[in-house]
Amino acid sequence: MDYIQGNPTRVPTRRAWVITIGWIWLAGSVLCWFAGGMAGQAWPYHTHSGPFLVFADGPVRDLDGLAQELVQLGERLQTELAIPLCIERIGLYLFHDRELYEQFLLQSVPHLTQRDVNRQGLFFLHGKTPVIVALVGADLRRTLRHEFVHAVLNPSCPQLPLWLDEGLAMYYEVPEGHGWQERLAESLERQARQGWEPNLSRLERLTRMQQMGVQEYAEAWSWTFLLLRGGPEYRTCLQSYLADLRRNSPARPLSERWLKSGQSPEQSWWAFYGWTPTRRASRWESWRQWWIR
Ligand SMILES: [Zn+2]
Repeated sequence: MDYIQGNPTRVPTRRAWVITIGWIWLAGSVLCWFAGGMAGQAWPYHTHSGPFLVFADGPVRDLDGLAQELVQLGERLQTELAIPLCIERIGLYLFHDRELYEQFLLQSVPHLTQRDVNRQGLFFLHGKTPVIVALVGADLRRTLRHEFVHAVLNPSCPQLPLWLDEGLAMYYEVPEGHGWQERLAESLERQARQGWEPNLSRLERLTRMQQMGVQEYAEAWSWTFLLLRGGPEYRTCLQSYLADLRRNSPARPLSERWLKSGQSPEQSWWAFYGWTPTRRASRWESWRQWWIR
């Protein structure tokens, strides 16, 4: 999810009588937590783990293990992206109940649509405090890794373009650490059979989440994978781009910087993945085996 402002207003409730009681009970609602209040008590389950202040509609298994994994992911981001991160406090709202989850999001973040809350997790900023909201389920680990990347990169790098924000989140969400996303690779193969070709500058022009469909997510991931796994020259290019973005100055798009290498971004993409416009994915399978071993 991209950079949005929100306000975790109150504990969502399912029934009218609970809502009635809730209005009284939650007089100091969870919002007060951000101001140092005691509102966490309003939640059925609340605790803290590492930098996370956790509010949930029930206990979550191995919460400390998840928190520790995210802290380690933060350290990895700092090393691999050469970007200093300030991870002080992150609000983590976890829901076993989808209805409560959607209600909480729609109350907390203005302008969210039903499509936005259909996903497994979401990140927003409350002032400068990152807030992650997620559904507890089989995908929780990936969801938290994905939203955590958004949550720590956006405050440090507010100019981060949408495609790279999502590309990095999808690369680092893979728990095994290799960044390979088989589902997205297959999606690109299918789209390529219908005429799709990579085009970085087209991706760079996208500024709204609504413009990001499956194809755009998959392509964003593929560019990010190339930048992080294609060799030191690509990673250095990414790091210097991020450094420029952090300076808040208008940074030249990555597609323009790429030309210094003597190749267009698309030529690099074709070469790295072993595709050609007429003979696609010739090496895709062997690369895939190598990446995920
Ligand atoms: Zn995302």
